[in-house]
Amino acid sequence: MTASVTFSGLNHWFGQFQALSGIDLQIEAGEYVTLLGPSGCGKTTLLSILGGFLEPTEGRVLIGGQDMTRVAPVKRPTTTVFQDYALFPHMSLRDNVGFGLRMSGMGRKDRHARAEQMLDLVGLKDAALKRPHALSGGQRQRVALARALAVNPDVLLLDEPLGALDLKLRRSMQDELKSIQQQIGTTFVHVTHDQEEAMAIADRIVVMSKGRIEDHGTPDRVYRHPATLFTADFMGENNHIEGVKSGAGVETPFGLLPAQNALASAAAAICLRPEDIRADDQGSFPMGQATVTAAAFFGTYCRAHLSPACAPDLSLTAYLAPDRAWAQGDVLSLSADVENFRLFEPETP
Ligand code: ATP
Repeated sequence: MTASVTFSGLNHWFGQFQALSGIDLQIEAGEYVTLLGPSGCGKTTLLSILGGFLEPTEGRVLIGGQDMTRVAPVKRPTTTVFQDYALFPHMSLRDNVGFGLRMSGMGRKDRHARAEQMLDLVGLKDAALKRPHALSGGQRQRVALARALAVNPDVLLLDEPLGALDLKLRRSMQDELKSIQQQIGTTFVHVTHDQEEAMAIADRIVVMSKGRIEDHGTPDRVYRHPATLFTADFMGENNHIEGVKSGAGVETPFGLLPAQNALASAAAAICLRPEDIRADDQGSFPMGQATVTAAAFFGTYCRAHLSPACAPDLSLTAYLAPDRAWAQGDVLSLSADVENFRLFEPETP
């Protein structure tokens, strides 16, 4: 089953500290949403409010259009998968997965059938009679997922569910999570501080900072056209170039950049992604020559630090094609396409 989620006018204080400010967000039924942001930004607080573990100081939470703000966790159509799987060590996987069903009074035969169906969904049907200690970390996480899905929630909450796994396993579990979510159509709300994880799995990324929602949209939109400077920086590497508004554009160390969007401030914070810097003069915005100050081979690209001739104090990072061995001291022409620059008002401290 599946349901929409609405957060409306949420504020939350822990004593004097405001952990959430003015959260308004609509999550559609069947959507896979990630709450993304640095440690302490309020992701877990928001998830806890959705799960009913925390009552918000102000505002409302609707699930499937029903007001759930003051409804206890067990009475909500939600289940949560935590980073520490919390499996019962003395029970078989089948009994672990069927535990919630037993609590709700389902008979043994139906419970076993449902638990086996869920273990099949996560690729562990043949291990149904094993105990958790016989499993790897990734397999345990899958059992925790099967257990949470067994009770057929409308909304599944995942709090850093892959945080304990090594990078390779994390990547493969991300693919599995997304594929399982697509099969069952349940709404997934997944907390992570890993922007690559968010991009790998989410239909929509909600970027949070200091208790507020900074931006939300598809991974592509949030990465390519971030709404704020914070989002631009949090979603990946960026070069920062300072500029000053001048007529129809922004004056930069490389010349006048046509403005992509209106800015209220006189100063501009300009962002350019490393993959958008070209090692030639064919882009619509020529940037003159630059000297490589350091370079490292990363397989699909070479990550180089560049010192532009017209602004030697500015260090640019570029992902250059690895078709040649870039080295310190190499001199190259630089350019970028005008539409790849993002202009923001500088952040006030
Ligand atoms: P992380 O990724 O580190 O888990 P987060 O984004 O999930 O971080 P939260 O756990 O939601 O952040 O915490 C948001 C802020 O609220 C933090 O500054 C945290 O210290 C504070 N906070 C969380 N729980 C409590 C509490 N029970 N009492 C007081 N302050 C709290």
